[in-house]
Amino acid sequence: MPIDREKATLSLDEPVSRVRLVSPARASALEKLGVRTLRDLLTHFPRSYIDLSQVETCGTARIGEVCTIRGTVHEIKLKKPRYNLKLVEIALVDGTGILIVTCFRQPWLMDQVKAGDAVAVSGKVTFDYGYKRMTNPFIEVIGEGEEVTGSVVPVHPATEKLTAAWVRRIVANGLEAAEGLFDPLPLGLRLRYRLMSRNAALRAIHFPRTMPEADEARRRLVYEELLYLELFLMQEGAARSAGCVPHAHVVDGPRLAAFASSLPFELTGEQQRARDEILSALAAPTVANHMLLGDVGTGKTVVAGHALAAAADSEGQAMLLAPTEVLARQHMEGLGERLEGAGVRVALLTGSTPSGERAAIVEGFASGEVDVLIGTHALLSDDVVPRNLTLAVIDEQQRFGVDQRAKLLEKGEAPDALYLTATPIPRTLALALYGNLTLSYIKHRPHDSARRTTRVLSREQQGDAFEAAREALDRGDQVFVVCPLVGKDAEARDAKAAGRTRDADAAGEEYHPAVAIEDDADLSGDDVTAATREAEMLQRTTFADWTVGLLHGGMGAEAKREVMEQFRKGEVQVLVATTVIEVGVDVPNATVMIVQDADRFGLAQLHQLRGRVGRGEKAAEVFLVSASQREESLARLAAMESTDDGFELAAFDLSLRREGDILGNRQHGASGLKLVNIMRDGAVIEAARADAQALLEVDPNLEEPDHVALAREVRLAFAHESAIVGG
Ligand code: ADP
Ligand code: MG
Repeated sequence: MPIDREKATLSLDEPVSRVRLVSPARASALEKLGVRTLRDLLTHFPRSYIDLSQVETCGTARIGEVCTIRGTVHEIKLKKPRYNLKLVEIALVDGTGILIVTCFRQPWLMDQVKAGDAVAVSGKVTFDYGYKRMTNPFIEVIGEGEEVTGSVVPVHPATEKLTAAWVRRIVANGLEAAEGLFDPLPLGLRLRYRLMSRNAALRAIHFPRTMPEADEARRRLVYEELLYLELFLMQEGAARSAGCVPHAHVVDGPRLAAFASSLPFELTGEQQRARDEILSALAAPTVANHMLLGDVGTGKTVVAGHALAAAADSEGQAMLLAPTEVLARQHMEGLGERLEGAGVRVALLTGSTPSGERAAIVEGFASGEVDVLIGTHALLSDDVVPRNLTLAVIDEQQRFGVDQRAKLLEKGEAPDALYLTATPIPRTLALALYGNLTLSYIKHRPHDSARRTTRVLSREQQGDAFEAAREALDRGDQVFVVCPLVGKDAEARDAKAAGRTRDADAAGEEYHPAVAIEDDADLSGDDVTAATREAEMLQRTTFADWTVGLLHGGMGAEAKREVMEQFRKGEVQVLVATTVIEVGVDVPNATVMIVQDADRFGLAQLHQLRGRVGRGEKAAEVFLVSASQREESLARLAAMESTDDGFELAAFDLSLRREGDILGNRQHGASGLKLVNIMRDGAVIEAARADAQALLEVDPNLEEPDHVALAREVRLAFAHESAIVGG
């Protein structure tokens, strides 16, 4: 019987509940994993594989090597070695001996694994207290009667309610339902790179017979994702400027001159160059798309200020979008006031602006009375309509999604765009990932003479950190104490993050930065309690002579603003905070930062955090306190000691290599990119970019019969983004 390709292809967008074995309960568990349609299910890729062809026994497994061991659970216990730490210990036996498996922060294993179960564990073998051991390995219960085809078991992201074994079964059924899927890649491209068909690739990435087969499947699917991305970016870019008259800004006007001469310092050479590059992009009668890259503390804000003043001089309007309320407010108070001094009319709009005030600001912006509107996501609201938006600036652009960027730009007729980012991306990658861009780099901080040192301390040594903090306070300086999130949700995230270490080179790592940038929604009550407790304790003991303030995402905007204000003014000298302070906060008088449980943060994040100190002319000290004994964790932290350069750190940090961080879609995960690894796939990115360009040159709207399926996939891959661009 011929396979109905069209039907199979269309079924991709039907609800996942159509798939065999997906009951309503399982459908809702799948939804938690972001799986709603059959397409979502088929792109719910394994996070790791257990390669049963590399199986060792307890007896033969070599210490220090990564391998898989199959055995039977002899005993499983939940232990609580200290407050806040739970671990599950499993004694695994096979004919040849015993392996002790320790799993941190995954207490639910107690419900999923029981004595007598057949399991496979995969990880690095160590030896301690007389036993061979594995810590946080991938662990899989080999279900009763489960057919393990081939010698590779895929491990899909799962939840407490829906185990990996179940996901595996459901994915297998999904593949069956999608049998005969149409391949949207033009044959010429498939042949050129010798890529598997889409069907074969989906099958092989979920259920490879061998690991090289999984790699081949991944190669095809990565290329596909990137081709869609490039096509999307190029088409979006073309649509943005089509039929519009680009703005040529005045860059020698009075407000810009007044702003520049009001600065209390001189711009560094690099800042001057970046300013000139940005201004000439704004002055040109084309749609500017400019990115300013510079490590934290390199002084990007003031450079961007020149652009905002130029927009006002040009009878245009500008918007400055910042990711958090704290940061938007800080821009208003620093940059905003300076701009106002130069005759630019500035307003601030955030989620907590009172409604009466909000209405006045929205009206002022619509009538053109406001030149520059600074704000948070509140700026994206539909009723915020500028009279004549000529410039959109996005600060910390990596924190925003492609869709949010598009939504902001939609508010004007082909406005010029300026992105500020502290994410270190090489030039070629930046070009490929953001479409047609011009770039400026700032590599050095204005106060290179003011040194910042970083030290890693064990828990026993943390007294040194508090000692340094007290000395700083005695000098009249201020101190940050950063706590990670520690509640239940954080535990769940840890486990998920643990699963991310899929690469062979990472298999021996403990787990990855669990503490993602704090979303208010992420906070559980426990997290708040922990930070609150820490603040109270420090106020009573170590910092009894000073005033300790508390800042966390669970607080209302007003309360946050107040404590930041007090800290800025020096009324609060010690600020205990969760990661809300991560982005952009600027208090030059803060010279000491103590990060608790530093091993729970990613390097990129620690680097962002420490960028909060050493911003003034004073030298700063950063202390990373960690109770971890793990070599890998300590080595990661040691990298923080050895370099102060974000670009160098990036090479150490796997978390930075995740595409979400680079493309800036981590809030929604709403990107067509699920497999791309920015470091490893650089060459593919460039190939896909060239291919997309060539395709659009001959067929700009992808209307040829060969390209119709492709066009449809591009739309679907970025469905969320296009919906917003279109609305
Ligand atoms: P980032 O690039 O991380 O956004 P900021 O723009 O917040 O950095 O600047 C960091 C600090 O450096 C701010 O306090 C700012 O006022 C200060 N600064 C910026 N440029 C200079 C300069 N040329 N000389 C002295 N201080 C500067
Ligand atoms: Mg900044």
